[in-house]
Amino acid sequence: MSNLSRSRKLVPVDRTFGTAINPHPCNRAWLEVDSRAIENNARVLKRFIKKDCLLMAVVKADGYGHGSETVAKAALEGGADSLGVATLEEGIELRKADLDCEILILGNLTNREELLSCFHWSLIPTISGIREAIICNNIADTLNKKFAIHLKVDTGMTRLGCNFNETSEIVAKIDCLKNISLEGIYSHLALADNDSRDITGSKSFTSIQLNRFEKVLQNLGPRKKSLCRHLANSAGTLSDRCFHFDMVRVGLSLYGYYPVMELEASLKLKPALSVKARVTLVRDVEKGTGVGYGHIFKSERNSKLAVVAIGYADGVSRALSGKISASVDGVLVPQVGAIAMDQMVLDITDHPNISVGKVVTLLGADGEMFISPQEWSDISGSIPWEVLCSFKNRLPRVVI
Ligand SMILES: *Cc1c(COP(=O)(O)O)cnc(C)c1O
Repeated sequence: MSNLSRSRKLVPVDRTFGTAINPHPCNRAWLEVDSRAIENNARVLKRFIKKDCLLMAVVKADGYGHGSETVAKAALEGGADSLGVATLEEGIELRKADLDCEILILGNLTNREELLSCFHWSLIPTISGIREAIICNNIADTLNKKFAIHLKVDTGMTRLGCNFNETSEIVAKIDCLKNISLEGIYSHLALADNDSRDITGSKSFTSIQLNRFEKVLQNLGPRKKSLCRHLANSAGTLSDRCFHFDMVRVGLSLYGYYPVMELEASLKLKPALSVKARVTLVRDVEKGTGVGYGHIFKSERNSKLAVVAIGYADGVSRALSGKISASVDGVLVPQVGAIAMDQMVLDITDHPNISVGKVVTLLGADGEMFISPQEWSDISGSIPWEVLCSFKNRLPRVVI
């Protein structure tokens, strides 16, 4: 035994209590996920898209932080036809949760081991070229089966996908692989959610991508009819039905947000996530008192402060320090001082009735009050997508 462990003091722990004394998830800080909002959004989106167009619910990154299983089930309940994930592991997790719809992996699987696993779990890989198609063919060949794949075409994102000028050639080569079943062809928009003005103008980059994709399909002749063709993310889906083709891949809007504010009028989505935490201490301080690390806030009057048990280790970016407000009973209260790892402070001088145990809403709906991820991302120089998937596992998820 080392000196260190000999000197370590052991405390008696009774582990026989089991789960009966586990803390309630809403003691400190938590995420509330409204699964009915997700279901509603899927239904609204399904009604909005072109007739006979399929809706793929994109549930990558643990369902944009909402919990992929919860979100996937709610979306399917609301009429989504298939699921999209980024990684092999995300797909397997959904299969283990008994989801048996089509699941497309949007990321690239590159080696035989990954693709073999993909095949065994009946997940559809995205293929960007002949290299991976051959690996898939070999896998299916040894099992005497067919491997279903989607081919991705790069029309200007310059990330995954084959060159749009070489697509016909690649499709022809893939079609020669007897154990491959090419079932879909798709591309991804680079600017649709970046610049609302981009999507409409005929010279916009989004329309250039659309033209390239249409050209690719045209060059495939009748072969294209047996392929599931898809191009649109949330922004493409909401902005114009010309982007819909046979399927749309919706992430952000499934969770209740508009990728471009101008699109808000087009359909009624309901945000599904809220971030909540409790007041753990209320205290009075005199004028001129520095608050928190660095004293970046000093009280300008005798003040009442509330300490709230949530911080950047929970996913509330430190870049938001002193620039956000939280909602308490539907009233906005300013956050002051540096957001710390586990805690932050609110100035409740004007709301002295707030007491220990009070629930504070950092993000999402609180009665009539609503704080959007866009507000946070505007302050922190981020985007709503990143805000949503920044919440950490330390926050328990409560599905309502
Ligand atoms: C993430 C992703 C989407 C969904 O994008 P949203 O803007 O969240 O709707 C669609 N397609 C691909 C390929 C993606 O990676």
